Amino acid sequence: MTEKIIPLADQRYLNRIPIVPAHLEAPTGLLADTRARPLHDLRISITDRCNFRCVYCMPKEVFDKDYPYLPHSSLLTFEEITRVASLFVAHGVEKIRLTGGEPLLRKNVEKLIEMLAALRTPDGRELDLTLTTNGSLLARKAQALKDAGLKRVTVSLDALDDAVFKKMNDVDFAVTDVLEGIEAAHRVGLGPIKINMVVKGGMNDQEILPMARHFKDTPYVLRFIEYMDVGTSNGWKMDEVIPSAEVVRRISADMPLEPIAPNYTGETANRWRHADGSGEIGVISSVTQAFCSDCSRARLSTEGKLYTCLFATGGHDLRALLRNGNSDEEISTVIAHIWRARDDRYSELRTANTSELKERKVEMSYIGG
Ligand code: SF4
Repeated sequence: MTEKIIPLADQRYLNRIPIVPAHLEAPTGLLADTRARPLHDLRISITDRCNFRCVYCMPKEVFDKDYPYLPHSSLLTFEEITRVASLFVAHGVEKIRLTGGEPLLRKNVEKLIEMLAALRTPDGRELDLTLTTNGSLLARKAQALKDAGLKRVTVSLDALDDAVFKKMNDVDFAVTDVLEGIEAAHRVGLGPIKINMVVKGGMNDQEILPMARHFKDTPYVLRFIEYMDVGTSNGWKMDEVIPSAEVVRRISADMPLEPIAPNYTGETANRWRHADGSGEIGVISSVTQAFCSDCSRARLSTEGKLYTCLFATGGHDLRALLRNGNSDEEISTVIAHIWRARDDRYSELRTANTSELKERKVEMSYIGG
């Protein structure tokens, strides 16, 4: 994991400016890709910066002080984000997740949430507007986020033990502060709250049971995420992946679990409930149980590139269209064409060696998880 990352601006393959088709389409109507997967979720990364350096996402030795973070001028403005989001909503998106980097670092994020919360589905329903955070600023911001119209939050927490937590996020940040953020979010009604724990073998897997015990008998849903080969900087190895089946086995040996049905088609987590009725956990198994067959997620990067897969090696530059004066109809037609042509299924194709592929995968801190 020594190789220095080529600055984003130099990664030419990431910069495809879409050609506007001659025949424009109506900017509404549901879309399905080449595998009949509907466009349902839009994840929007609103900053490439973070105050953590999680080893599986933004390892410190790569994302150091000299790393070329995006200048503010290249970020989509709140007006541009809302305009693009409205085009996706007109095509069937019902859920918008704000991500980063750490989205709560984006100045006046509440203003953006207010603008997005005002959007409605074509039949007048409110969107499922949610946000994924590392929880570091949540205690301070929970009420304002709720007041702005945010519906729910997902909080990343990779350990209860402070030393293990600090090893995972590689900054000196205490678990208690994140737990206070979760409590504050619960108090103001930003629920149901999900807690995401990335499990990296040999680093924090000893925390699986303490985490499961801690969040049992609480309103929070703890999800265990298999360590993934996102981007090209985390030095991923298959033998550091703890399969979800093993996670369930470990917990069930101590606190019996039963499988339960998904909330909706395309849900990333497999759900399990405590047999004694005291709560639910989830496992997200991109490595050992790929879920590409009903993946309905599009991703918009901080500077307006559309990605159709978390493990993509190229994106489509919608910002260029926004700033070149293209109309909503033109941009909407481009989105429709991109989604219809989508055939991504990286997790189905992944092997122990796919991470050695020459092509650079986009960094998770750039398009959000
Ligand atoms: S690997 Fe890509 S296509 Fe498969 S589930 Fe993940 S984001 Fe979707």
